[in-house]
Amino acid sequence: MPLTVHAAPVVLTMTGDDPARDGVLRDAAVAVDGDRIAGVGPVGEVAGRFPDARVRRWPGVITPGLVNAHAHLQYTDFAHLASSGLPFPEWLLALNRERAGYTEARWQESARRGVHLMLKSGTTAVADVVTHACVLVPVARSGIRGVSYIEVLADDAAWAAKRRDRFFAALDTPVGRTLGVSPHTPYSVGSAVFRELVAVARERGLRMHPHLAESADEVEFVRSGTGSFADVHHALGTTHELLDAGSGLAPGGYLDTLGALGPDVHVAHGVHLDAADRALLRERGTAVALCVRSNATLKAGEAPVADYLTEGSPLALGTDSLASGPSLDLWEEASAVRELALRQGYTAPDLDARLVTAATLGGAQALGLPAAGHLTEGGPADLAVFKVPTDLDPHTSLITHGAGSCVGTVLGGRLVHRR
Ligand SMILES: [Zn+2]
Repeated sequence: MPLTVHAAPVVLTMTGDDPARDGVLRDAAVAVDGDRIAGVGPVGEVAGRFPDARVRRWPGVITPGLVNAHAHLQYTDFAHLASSGLPFPEWLLALNRERAGYTEARWQESARRGVHLMLKSGTTAVADVVTHACVLVPVARSGIRGVSYIEVLADDAAWAAKRRDRFFAALDTPVGRTLGVSPHTPYSVGSAVFRELVAVARERGLRMHPHLAESADEVEFVRSGTGSFADVHHALGTTHELLDAGSGLAPGGYLDTLGALGPDVHVAHGVHLDAADRALLRERGTAVALCVRSNATLKAGEAPVADYLTEGSPLALGTDSLASGPSLDLWEEASAVRELALRQGYTAPDLDARLVTAATLGGAQALGLPAAGHLTEGGPADLAVFKVPTDLDPHTSLITHGAGSCVGTVLGGRLVHRR
């Protein structure tokens, strides 16, 4: 592959002591040699260093490839569920029913479509929650970076019957993709099973990614063992240590008693975490992947975005799946998070820069990908180009005009999307 210099009016490297300030380069370029970045800087300087390179001039802003910190690629073909209007517990049951009719080939096709939509919108790394291990093969083959978290929903009986074997089979089958563990939620995974999953993850050095505090129903179940998730357990005949008893704790506090918080964990949603739970997650170094559009679809509530920002919680952004979110475009999510933060009274001028950080560096940190989320010489050549106005602050421009604006995506040095 010949060396290519990607030049644009603005390049956001997301590097330096203050990436939001130091990482903004005007009339700049990124040189790509094979699958690595060979240089980043002012366009004259970079072109001068590589006089024989092919120069590709882009409009708009070049950023590191975006990192989607919560998704379910296999549910890309389930968009009709997002428009069903069902509230969360009923939606979950509908999703379960629908799953039964799917074959391996359909799951794989659905996941492939999800990867395609992500690459098309500038995302080059994803935290993908995997319920059916058959999707690991096409996702690995696509080259998209990130972690595939093997999901477990199980009470003790289901775990012992076959889910334990299925889980280990998925973990032990090499597919060329970094794997992690996703204990689904505190209410759908028994405490003993959850503890075992934590132990396995730590033993094998795998990252974890549960859903946490997505709905008020979850808070009630964890605290007192009652409410709609208790009804679901009773209706399905499944068991749970907290059923009709509860832990007396908030969801974050409960997860902590299972050893399931830490810098090797990031949680999805965090809609109903109170101040004490948010402080606990910060203390443990656990990041939150916000999915505010999915929360709105499922009427699950509004995440305390302004509090997270004010308190300095490590944040990332996720689209969730198309079964509950309107798109896999991370800037569309960022724009919704911005709106919510403003509505909640967050007025600090750093809002847009922090959301761009969440979509890049924040996601990379949440997934434990130190080389992702920034453009650095020697690092992987994963970048995205957005045709947005360059006469305003580039962070604001990306958050307010970035959705649907991706004109180029480079993954491992290869141009995988161009418009
Ligand atoms: Zn999810």
